[in-house]
Amino acid sequence: MGVGVRLTCSLCNTSYDLVEGHGFFVEQAIKYCRDCEELVSVLIGFVPNCPEEEISKGRHHVDKYANRCSNCNGLNLDDWPSTNPCPTCGKPMQREETYLWD
Ligand SMILES: [Zn+2]
Ligand SMILES: [Zn+2]
Repeated sequence: MGVGVRLTCSLCNTSYDLVEGHGFFVEQAIKYCRDCEELVSVLIGFVPNCPEEEISKGRHHVDKYANRCSNCNGLNLDDWPSTNPCPTCGKPMQREETYLWD
């Protein structure tokens, strides 16, 4: 089950609606793109117990998009620290879970 995450910074009014966790047989994570200078949801790969059938159906998509920025398709991604720093001003962002998907 994946989670929609709304991140807001009260200092500079930046906000993001992103997705992380497991869903649709794939795993996603929030990362920072050094090229876009923004937070993005990144496809990580198939979930650990993904059925073979779904892997063969989805392999092309995952090979093409895994570990790439969903905005610019670039590979300059950094892990986003668990302190949730705002990419614009560095202040910890407020985190709110918005919806579930699977
Ligand atoms: Zn990017
Ligand atoms: Zn900020």
